[in-house]
Formats: sequence, structure tokens, C-alpha cells
Amino acid sequence: MHFIVIGGGLAGLAAATTIQQNGHTFQLLEKDIALGGRVQSSAINGHIIDHGFQVYLPNYQEGKHFFDYPNLKLQSFNPGSMVLYDKGQSDTIGDPLRSPSTLFGTLLSNVGSYSDKIRLLKLKKVAKRYWINPDEIDTSKSTYDFLIDFGFNQKMIDHFFIPFFSGVFFDKKLETSSAMFLFLYGKFATSLASVPSKGMGSLSAQLASALPHENIHLNEEVKSISTKTVQVASGKNYIGDKIILAAPLQGLLSGASQPVHWQSSHTIYFEADKAPHNKKLVGIVAKKNALVNNISVMSNVCKAYAPANKHQIAVSIFGDVYSKDVETKIKTECESWFGKQTSEWKYIKHFHIKNALPNQQQVRFTFDKTACKMGEHIYCAGDYMLNGSIDAALKSGRLAAEFAMKG
Ligand SMILES: Cc1cc2nc3c(=O)[nH]c(=O)nc-3n(C[C@H](O)[C@H](O)[C@H](O)COP(=O)(O)OP(=O)(O)OC[C@H]3O[C@@H](n4cnc5c(N)ncnc54)[C@H](O)[C@@H]3O)c2cc1C
Repeated sequence: MHFIVIGGGLAGLAAATTIQQNGHTFQLLEKDIALGGRVQSSAINGHIIDHGFQVYLPNYQEGKHFFDYPNLKLQSFNPGSMVLYDKGQSDTIGDPLRSPSTLFGTLLSNVGSYSDKIRLLKLKKVAKRYWINPDEIDTSKSTYDFLIDFGFNQKMIDHFFIPFFSGVFFDKKLETSSAMFLFLYGKFATSLASVPSKGMGSLSAQLASALPHENIHLNEEVKSISTKTVQVASGKNYIGDKIILAAPLQGLLSGASQPVHWQSSHTIYFEADKAPHNKKLVGIVAKKNALVNNISVMSNVCKAYAPANKHQIAVSIFGDVYSKDVETKIKTECESWFGKQTSEWKYIKHFHIKNALPNQQQVRFTFDKTACKMGEHIYCAGDYMLNGSIDAALKSGRLAAEFAMKG
């Protein structure tokens, strides 16, 4: 069977890999000049710059199946977080997900009560159970409501859960489904957030390297799909027995479901002569109306991210707080935690990803054939079919290809 795969992000690459592993052929069409979609890295002035701050969790089930871990040389953040408060105060906390008793640093010690520690232990068990038997737990609520109903103290929610998970979901109010919260809580609690030593883009590059490059067509934007024929912007037609649509292009299909709603993100990268701190920790901001959501010194986690004697700082902010002079505002805000040196930070690059994560008020962790089959020959894939994660993108691509191969 011959397949046309539309989209060269992780979902499309996973689909093409699955097709190839099963002895079929494919042509992959990608509108961009590079593969990887939302998981790419660029070399800029000696830095490895990911296209938006993101991390890989090595216990992602699909990732274990698709990636060759030793070759990725994963470099890990340490468990825990650096919490950055108002008035320049900061605190390093242990990892509440792994070991609830280590959560409370000096400043947080008056925040989480003893009963919150007990609740964290209970939450860990619930997250584990959820993964074994999802139907047993009511996840109809938002993450925020789930935490309130679980009994967590408001300060604990404001000083830990919101700053940490709002940066993960790109959702300040934690309206994201509690199912996604429990899924990621379980993942963060059992593996360390990591980046490959050559950048997040090596995840996509590794998958692409095992595919015949003559079957991959970059700069080919799909304009229409009709039965077995895909037409690209140049007017050329590609014909396949089956089509895997691994890009959110439902507008091209009749009878398609609702359009996807997206959360946006900004990551601004800086170079510094001196690292603001030497910890392999994500800094999360627990301050009302802050511009910065999280900040990481990437070169502390992986030296290769910055040239010798330089450091790389990744700052994430929410889409709705962006303003023109954002670089200056970030440096001013960060001065309260890291001192005057922030004025010396040199701007490297800004990534604004409009469609960063699908809205996750409802998520899935798997789907059946009817959910992905659109018409006789077309099968849909992409993280938006499940949830906003690398694991979901890979799984959606694999499932779509498997359903399409079975017919
Ligand atoms: C800033 C940021 C941070 C993130 N953080 C994390 C994280 O820490 N951990 C995690 O697990 N996940 C994270 N994610 C989510 C993860 O990156 C995505 O879930 C995953 O990459 C989605 O892959 P995909 O293949 O479904 O979609 P995409 O990567 O968007 O791929 C779709 C592809 O289709 C192509 N395309 C679109 N239209 C056409 C067309 N007309 N013709 C041909 N090609 C077309 C696009 O160019 C693109 O290459 C993050 C995402 C972002 C943006």
C-alpha cells in the first residue's frame, strides 16, 4: 500500500515510521522548509535554541517505543523547582511530586500545611491509580476545581500548582482537564524533565533519519484533499491508497469536527556571561500579575546549549501579556531575583508559537478508528486528537497509520 502523510511534525513522522516498519511506502508532505513541526531546534550564534522552551519526559510510553534514548544523550533537570516570589524573594523546593515531604523550603514552610503534605501523598496514589484504571476517577472537573475539591489550601495552589502547571498547560487559570493534570503529575513524579544534548529538535531528527529522504518533500503546502489525491500549492498532485492527515487541516475535509482551539506561548532566549544561578531547576514565578511564567538556565542543564563561557537563559511568558518592549520588561522583572546582571543579558531569539498547545479542557489518551477516519481513505493524526504532548503526537501518528493499514 502507498500512503500520503501530510505534516512532518512528530505525529506525521511517527505515522511514516509505522508505515515503513510494516513494509508499506509513503510520501510525506511538509509545508515548512524543515521537519519537526513544533519540535525543532536551531543553531544561533553558537547556541542550540529550541523553538520554544519544552522538555521531554523519558517515561513517555510512546517515546520509549520510537526513540533510541542512548543516542539522544538526554540531559536532565534536577527534581524540584526554584520558586520566585514577589519582592525578589526566592526559594528552592524539593520535588513535591516525588517526595511530598521535601516540598517546603523556608518560604513555603508557612504555606503548605501538614495536611497538604498528606494530600500530596494521596494525590500521588490517585495519579498512579488513574493511570492503571482511568474510569475509576472522576476527571470531569478542571485542574483548578479538582485541586480545590481535593482539599488543598489556597496558598499551596497559588504558590505551587498554578505557577508550575500553568507553564506546562499554557493556561493561567488551570482550566485544563484534571485528567491531563493526573497524567502529567504521574509522569513528572516518575521521571526527570530532560532535553537531548543536541536540542529538542533531535527527537524529530532521529525519527526522520530512519526514513528515506527521497520520500520526504519539504516546502510542499497541501491545499486540497480529494478522495485519494492530495494537491499542493504548486498544483502538483500526490496520489496514495490512504492519506494520513497529521496536520490540523480539517477545514479541507467535509464533515470534519469542530475547529481546534489553541493556547499560545512566547519563549525569549538570552545569552549571559554569568549564569544567574547554577541550578538545574526550572524557575517558576509565584507572583501576581508577573510577566514571566518560568525561566531556565538551559546551559546549566546541558552545557552544549551555549558556546564556551556563555550561558543560555530561556524565559517563557503567556501569550496575553506580550508587549513590544518585552525583552526590557523581562530583564527588569528578573533583576529583583538575579540582580543587576540581568541588564547585561543579550537577546538571542524570540519564538511566538500561536498554536502551541491545543486547548485541553477535554483530553483523550487513545482513540478508535471511527474517531480518526474521515471518509473512505483519510485518517487523522496530531496531538490535538488526544492531548498536548509529545507522547500524544507520537501515539496519534502510530494509531492513525495502524488503522489505515488495516483498512
Ligand atoms: C512552546 C511549546 C512547548 C511545549 N512543551 C512541551 C513539553 O514540555 N512536553 C511535551 O510533551 N510537549 C510539549 N509541547 C507539545 C508538543 O510539542 C506537541 O504536542 C507536538 O510537537 C505536536 O506534534 P504534531 O505532529 O501533532 O503537530 P505539529 O508539530 O504542529 O506538526 C504539524 C505539521 O504539519 C505541517 N503542516 C501544517 N499545515 C500543512 C499543510 N497545509 N501542508 C503540509 N504540511 C502542513 C506543519 O508545518 C507541521 O510541521 C510543547 C509545544 C510547544 C509549542
